[in-house]
Amino acid sequence: MPELDLAINNARYLVTCNSSGEVLENYSIGIRAGEIVEISKSQLNGAINYDASGKLIAPGLVNTHTHLAMTLLRGYAEGVDLQGFLERVWAAEGAIMDGSTAELGTKLGALEALLSGTTTTLDMYLFPEDTHRGAVAAGLRHVAGPIFFDFPGLDGMEWPARIEFAKSWPDKLGKIGGPKVPIYLMPHATYTCSPDHLSEIAALANEINANIHIHISENNRENEDVATRYSRTPTDILKDSGLLNRRCVYGHGVHLSDSDLAEMSGNAAVAHCPGSNLKLASGIADVTKYLKHGITVALGTDGCSSSNDLDMWPVMRLAGYLIAQNSGPQNLDAERIFRMATIEGARGLGMADSIGSLEVGKRADIIAVELNSPHLIPIHNLFAQLVFAAGRSDVSDVFVDGEQVVEDYRSTKLDFSQLQKDVTNRIAQL
Ligand SMILES: [Zn+2]
Repeated sequence: MPELDLAINNARYLVTCNSSGEVLENYSIGIRAGEIVEISKSQLNGAINYDASGKLIAPGLVNTHTHLAMTLLRGYAEGVDLQGFLERVWAAEGAIMDGSTAELGTKLGALEALLSGTTTTLDMYLFPEDTHRGAVAAGLRHVAGPIFFDFPGLDGMEWPARIEFAKSWPDKLGKIGGPKVPIYLMPHATYTCSPDHLSEIAALANEINANIHIHISENNRENEDVATRYSRTPTDILKDSGLLNRRCVYGHGVHLSDSDLAEMSGNAAVAHCPGSNLKLASGIADVTKYLKHGITVALGTDGCSSSNDLDMWPVMRLAGYLIAQNSGPQNLDAERIFRMATIEGARGLGMADSIGSLEVGKRADIIAVELNSPHLIPIHNLFAQLVFAAGRSDVSDVFVDGEQVVEDYRSTKLDFSQLQKDVTNRIAQL
């Protein structure tokens, strides 16, 4: 009986994203119990053997800011800015969203993510038990968590119920199962949660050892509104509430001052969402400056009703274009961009010890990219090829926790035609 559960052999390129950025040629990976146990030049033998001849093998992409259930509202709020978008989308959500609809939308989102090579998402949405169930059914490594608003919201929860629910979240998460993820609490924003409530969340995060995900400084009007109400920046409010003492992932972080950046360094990471930011005309995050401040910069798509898809490949491309436009092409480093979508994403989420690179001891979250296409030859610069030429249709196979969840461009977990029928029926109510 083979000692390995899975062997990935003959990878033409093995992009490790390890600390020295090694790219290995004609290598194999051995996987046991979902963990990478061997990376070797020799042919390996597993219970399942995957032939990666002609393919590029890389870590799964990490999407650090999204709202998967909002796939159901794709294209529903066009031609508006952030505030106009929220108005339109919150009304539509009121009409159709409940736990089972959120689960359905998340299943669709998780399927889209996986088929495009994303293996981990940080997903902020209501009904996190339902969304988590939907994402796990698709095979995604899904970081969910309780969301917080001052007002009851669609789930009808008053503040004390939200806090009680959040206390029980680690238990609930454990019961649903799926690939291992850290505990997160997700206050929506500083314009939807009061400073007192944010302090309460910080105390709870200390108690249950949770990380934080929150929308921060997405556009100028948000900063102005928050300044009018509290005479501070959103980052100041986070700091004063104690939330910056926890690991904190900023959704967007487009408009951050030098003093914001100084306050963030150490614990906060920015989930840079260039597609959403450009489409809603929210502004352009100066990520070169963030990096100089030692801030971890990761990438995200945002939800489908603002940026219309969950595809991390154009996000990488746009992030690159904006760096070139903002800071000069000499600061555009395709390898760095690819790392933002992999190991830096994992670092931002506090998961760099388990995912984000292909190294012995890490979980086997792995994608195979078919290189045998007109737009991917010849290869002069592998990372430029990945960031500026490759796309989601090039991802042929995906493994999460050592399980093959996409095989030959199709999900091994979900029946798409059934999902399509379910989505069509549900959307008929909108
Ligand atoms: Zn968002």
